[in-house]
Amino acid sequence: MTKKILILPGDGIGQEVTSSAKEVLDFLIDEYQLNFEITNMDVGGTAYEKFGSPLPDNVLEEAKKSDAILFGAVGGPQWDDLGWDYRPEQALLGLRKELELFANLRPAFLFNELASASPIKNHIIENLDILIVRELTGGVYFGEPRAIVLDDPTPYAFNTMIYNEDEIRRIAKVAFESAQKRNGKLCSVEKANVLEVSKFWRSIVSDMAKDYPDVELTHQLADNTAMQLVLNPNQFDVIVSGNLFGDILSDIAATLTGSIGMLPSASLNSSSRGMYEPCHGSAPDIAGQNIANPIAMIASLAMALRFSLNEIGLADKIDNAIKQFIAQGFRTKDISTTDEYMSTSEVATKIIEIIKNG
Ligand code: NAD
Repeated sequence: MTKKILILPGDGIGQEVTSSAKEVLDFLIDEYQLNFEITNMDVGGTAYEKFGSPLPDNVLEEAKKSDAILFGAVGGPQWDDLGWDYRPEQALLGLRKELELFANLRPAFLFNELASASPIKNHIIENLDILIVRELTGGVYFGEPRAIVLDDPTPYAFNTMIYNEDEIRRIAKVAFESAQKRNGKLCSVEKANVLEVSKFWRSIVSDMAKDYPDVELTHQLADNTAMQLVLNPNQFDVIVSGNLFGDILSDIAATLTGSIGMLPSASLNSSSRGMYEPCHGSAPDIAGQNIANPIAMIASLAMALRFSLNEIGLADKIDNAIKQFIAQGFRTKDISTTDEYMSTSEVATKIIEIIKNG
């Protein structure tokens, strides 16, 4: 059966890094006779300029029909003053919401050769390999009611942090199953000492643990986890958390590796369709210079092959090629310690060469 892949480059370096990932994908399609159909469309500021909307209706329709979406990045200072509905970020939020992409998987791993780029001491960070599973479509970011109330003697604002049992169970299931495929450890993070919603979260996750006897479940308070990620990150295997705490913790974990251009992510729905994107943004400061690191995007392609396209062997080939690329000393500007580095376009060519040579 034909698998549909939608490529949404977006803005800034999104264009450059998706074009590198597409080069790798085109090579795999030719080499392994894959039955993939690829469509390329505009989103973000680029789509706003052309069509007056950051997420045109036809893009959303195409996204709903696709098995996997490769998303570059959106945003840029020229669109910062637009009204909320027209801002490039609406593309991302709209796709997450409309496709019900509730499970955000963000691996944070360190290539030991790049340990010097980390702000953390080498002996603490060595061999880092964590997966953060963040709930993406619920919690305080979406909870109702919410408002800023200015026509009051004491103006105030409020949001609602809410999770129902089904929302907790479906994200915890992804996390337990991920732990089963990794090192069998799951840490559930919330603030059960002060929040009712967290107490409820903890009780549901604890209840589910009996169905996963091979997974060692622990619970941690979010503030402690922030500290532990810096002090002793290797204690973690898989971390599961709600939208707010997961947002913060996944950025801390990404920063540990010292190289934002290296980290992929996946956002999945319950039928394993997903959107795959690098953790970084559109980097307007380096856009158009052919110096962006495309590895996060290429690694996101590997995640798409693994989670949505049922091509685990090819995902392994890409991941191994990235490891060899780094081990053989190839660097892009952001991770180079000398004046020598590869351009964005050269990286894809080298990765393909490494895959070809086995
Ligand atoms: P950013 O991630 O774009 O850039 C932060 C820094 O990291 C910059 O110095 C940039 O040059 C560098 N960098 C990022 N990716 C890189 C790569 N692949 N290779 C080499 N260097 C890289 O974050 P920002 O500067 O805070 O945001 C810029 C724009 O991106 C804003 O408009 C923001 O809203 C948007 N943004 C979009 C997403 C997304 O689309 N998912 C995520 C974050 C930020």
